[in-house]
Amino acid sequence: MKLGVLALQGAVSEHLDVLNDLGVEGLAVRYAEELEDLDGLILPGGESTTLEKLMRRFGLDVALRQALERGMACWGTCAGMILLSQEIANAINGQTGLGHLPVKVVRNCFGRQVDSCETPLEIKGLQGEAFPAVFIRAPGVSDILDPQIEVLAHHQDMIVAVRYGRVLATSFHPELTGDHRLHKFFIEQVVGCKLVER
Ligand code: GLN
Repeated sequence: MKLGVLALQGAVSEHLDVLNDLGVEGLAVRYAEELEDLDGLILPGGESTTLEKLMRRFGLDVALRQALERGMACWGTCAGMILLSQEIANAINGQTGLGHLPVKVVRNCFGRQVDSCETPLEIKGLQGEAFPAVFIRAPGVSDILDPQIEVLAHHQDMIVAVRYGRVLATSFHPELTGDHRLHKFFIEQVVGCKLVER
């Protein structure tokens, strides 16, 4: 199995560390060619506007759209969710995202950096106790644009986790808490690879 983490900006090493903890070798992806034989890619949290500019500069936007159309599994966390979304309610000038996930997303919808919080979240498909979800200038989904979108979690009055076939998107930062259940869910349920128990 070959998994990548888009490594242009944001919480890259944290995701790579979780993959390593799970016995999976993760690749820090910077170039379009590196997408070619990936089984799955994580788009990390960071700043979606900066990420989009860097993706364009490196030609990764076009390559990523093609990889998504080919059916590469992908998980966008926080800014990564914004990048994947079809509509961005409060996009800055020129920000379009990749347009792959049929939802409308609202950036920074739970407030500013100082409003960051960790909250227990019930997530459909995860066993056991509530997931410790860290929200940092997090987006939320306000509208579902395709009936095939599966809603996995809500926070306040927004949708904060969705699945769309081989695409997963979460508003919060699952790489910051030491709880690896969502990474396991992505690998086993979305990518479709069995993890070896360690
Ligand atoms: N607010 C950021 C954005 O619009 C996302 C924040 C994050 O990824 N933690 O891109």
